[in-house]
Amino acid sequence: MSLCRLTYCSHAIPSLDYQDLNNILEKSQKNNTTLGLTGLLCFGNGMFLQVLEGDRKFLGHTYNRIAKDERHHDTEIIEFVEVDSRMFGEWSMKALDLSDYSKELVKKLSMKYSSATDFYPFQMNAKQSLGFLIELYDLMNKNVASKS
Ligand code: FAD
Repeated sequence: MSLCRLTYCSHAIPSLDYQDLNNILEKSQKNNTTLGLTGLLCFGNGMFLQVLEGDRKFLGHTYNRIAKDERHHDTEIIEFVEVDSRMFGEWSMKALDLSDYSKELVKKLSMKYSSATDFYPFQMNAKQSLGFLIELYDLMNKNVASKS
């Protein structure tokens, strides 16, 4: 058993809607819980950026399934690396829809972590994509904390 992190990006099909996102999230949570996988799925500007953590073998199998999914295309692995600890261990899968965040914030984070002025994960390297997701994750946790 080797703890790894896999990050990839992809283009969503143009017809992808809120219901599709919910279906993906529900299925991900169910399957990932069984396999001990955790992570974040970010959707914005018609693209996905997902980070998955867990056992190397299960990550590989899961990514192979995901890459064949017809709800997105042109999947591109950004990083598949051994890690010492999880960064997103609280969630079997949590979805972040960037349309829930202000345009200014998305622009600010996109410009901080890429050369683009909008969310464009294909232009992010491993460190940048992780930095982007961690900032969103922290913001999400703060919002959850302030609501409770
Ligand atoms: P089933 O749910 O029975 O699906 C069987 C087949 O039908 C699969 O090939 C599936 O891709 C396809 N399918 C199911 N519903 C639809 C639909 N509405 N439209 C088109 N094809 C469909 N799965 C995970 O387990 N963990 C993840 O973290 C994860 N993240 C994902 C992220 C993205 C961006 C996308 C698009 C999908 C993700 N999925 C994830 C779903 C994954 O691609 C598979 O659909 C799922 O793992 C298959 O689960 P299953 O073996 O129980 O098969």
